[in-house]
Amino acid sequence: MGGNSPCASCKLLRRRCVKDCVFAPYFPSDDPHKFAIVHKVFGASNVSKMLQELPVQQRADAVSSLVYEANARVRDPVYGCVGAISYLQNQVSELQMQLAMAQAEIVCIQMQHDPIVPTTPQISSYQLLDDKSSLLHNHCFNFASSSLSTNVNIYDPLKRESTFGDIIS
Ligand SMILES: [Zn+2]
Repeated sequence: MGGNSPCASCKLLRRRCVKDCVFAPYFPSDDPHKFAIVHKVFGASNVSKMLQELPVQQRADAVSSLVYEANARVRDPVYGCVGAISYLQNQVSELQMQLAMAQAEIVCIQMQHDPIVPTTPQISSYQLLDDKSSLLHNHCFNFASSSLSTNVNIYDPLKRESTFGDIIS
């Protein structure tokens, strides 16, 4: 535009709005608050630098992000938009917990309605545990931990450490 109708930025900064003004496409003169808040939080020269470093097709998104962040910073001077993000993250985890509780409740109700539990796989797994425990009985690990293969893997490096310790001492 330029000339007679300066953009909101040039109007606030009291300077001539040149033909290729970097602010003009994103800060129209009919919305002076938009630039005022961005200028207050980030500073006009920083905003100008940021926009000039970006390709033209990304500048509109950058401006709307800067405006959002500036508004959040004014609302919450300490946390800014991080406050909004963590509030929403807390809400998400709270809702996920509620969902998990509701799903557990559904399972409970289903089991009360239909208490037929398949027993054969349980019996076979107990038999497996018995076999393993008899195999591992000489290694002096308790029954519960020896049933988990991950625990057996954890004990291996400990064993090696103890043998290294014996060698060093
Ligand atoms: Zn301008």
